Amino acid sequence: MPLPLWTPDNRVPLFVFGLTTGVAVTAAFQYLYSSLSKRNQPPPPADYDPLPGNAVGGLRPDTQFESTIQRLEREFTINTSMLHNLVKAFTRDMERGLKRENSVIKMIPSYVERRPSGDETGTYLALDLGGSNFRVCEVTLLGKGQVRTRQKKFVVSEALKTGTGEQLFDFIADCVEQFMGELNIGKDTKLKMGFTFSFPVDQHALNKGNLFLWTKGFTASGVVGTDVVQLLQDAFHRKDLKIDVTALVNDTVGTLISHAYVDNATYMGVILGTGSNAAYVEKMENIPKWKGPPSSTGEMVINMEWGAWGQDGIILPTTAYDLKVDRASPNPRKQTYEKMISGMYLGEITRQILLDLISTGEIFGGRHCSALEAPYSFETAYMSRIERDHSMELTDTRTILEDLYGIKKTTLSDRRLIKRICQLIGTRAARLASIGIASVVTKMNRLHGCTVAVDGSVYEHYSYFRTRMIDALKELLGVNADNITLAQARDGSGQGAALIAALADHGEL
Ligand code: ADP
Ligand code: MG
Repeated sequence: MPLPLWTPDNRVPLFVFGLTTGVAVTAAFQYLYSSLSKRNQPPPPADYDPLPGNAVGGLRPDTQFESTIQRLEREFTINTSMLHNLVKAFTRDMERGLKRENSVIKMIPSYVERRPSGDETGTYLALDLGGSNFRVCEVTLLGKGQVRTRQKKFVVSEALKTGTGEQLFDFIADCVEQFMGELNIGKDTKLKMGFTFSFPVDQHALNKGNLFLWTKGFTASGVVGTDVVQLLQDAFHRKDLKIDVTALVNDTVGTLISHAYVDNATYMGVILGTGSNAAYVEKMENIPKWKGPPSSTGEMVINMEWGAWGQDGIILPTTAYDLKVDRASPNPRKQTYEKMISGMYLGEITRQILLDLISTGEIFGGRHCSALEAPYSFETAYMSRIERDHSMELTDTRTILEDLYGIKKTTLSDRRLIKRICQLIGTRAARLASIGIASVVTKMNRLHGCTVAVDGSVYEHYSYFRTRMIDALKELLGVNADNITLAQARDGSGQGAALIAALADHGEL
């Protein structure tokens, strides 16, 4: 007969057993804590205290710490076989975009049919709107890939981003007038301008295109559905400026073209900054939807608008945290890929995870943390710095979290958990970005060698981002990955717009 688990006879031994186990577990946790934390402070209670105001908090049974990490690793890891499947899906969606309108990846012909030779010359103005800063540039092309640029940066306030289109374009015209004044360029000077406008635009000529969706926090009214070159040109007329906007350029196209001016092997431009997108050179015969005149070169630069990938909700392995970020964003259910890889959102995903882990008591001893309440307050740059912190006590991470960000108190295990979260989100972003690049270079048949120009602070500054991208490219392309050069492009969008204005001026577009 099986023994009952609890009988009046074994009550005492069980109680003793329970007591000794409890004592042993407590001792083990205390030992673990003191070996983790070299600081001379009294050991905290074995269990975190979920009540607010617990000054120590944060120590949790190690199994819980591990299980939290394992769960997040499961949700955020993209292994090699997933990478391969995602490349297949991405390639299929690129091809759909080249065939028809209204596909997820738009694949917009840019009306730029050639890359520069490097010999172009002349002086042009360029504007760059669509990132953290708005820039006005005067670009002098000197030939032989040499450029001289004078530029001024302006901040676009939240009020301008979310006000009316007329206010936004009047502000732009004001900035141009101010810039010309500072450079002693007379108001009546006739100048040609390339306009880098880094939002999804339905382009129907080199200098015509209707905005179809604001992204990256812009919502200015009266612009969606309208030709943005006309809006800009009207603002110049209101100021009596004699500027002729001859090219409307996406920043990805600008990055590709400006890098091609110095490196002839450049066939792709990628942005990994506030948002993410890419452009590449496609053969006309592969663009069945093209209804325009034949291209004199047989080629066309395609502005992919790849940020939208996955917004049909069926491909990308999004987590509940991605969903939260998306639903609370100004453009819900749009730009799914962009929201997983670009600078505007990485910190926000981290913030959502931290809020969740507070609610379950898995971090900060479950204490409410007011710093975390503000949307978009956790900067992606913090993550990058936390990832670079290799000190035993994660002291720089403590500085960031407590001094810069304003979390009252963190324990070493809080900081270890946060660092791991940053690694998971940063790694996922880099690996996802490589999917787009691997798909494009394979589609272009350039696995034997080409340069991909990459611009943006996430690529340039986020710790290990480039290495992680290269690792993923190796997993995807094998030895061919060595033939793909990822080149840092900086501020290419302004120069690129000027170059495209120059190509148009010389009758080459
Ligand atoms: P934009 O794309 O607006 O032209 P950037 O390329 O500078 O401008 O990208 C800005 C984005 O990069 C912001 O979302 C910011 O969070 C992120 N960023 C800025 N500095 C860093 C950094 N050191 N590490 C990681 N991300 C950063
Ligand atoms: Mg930029």
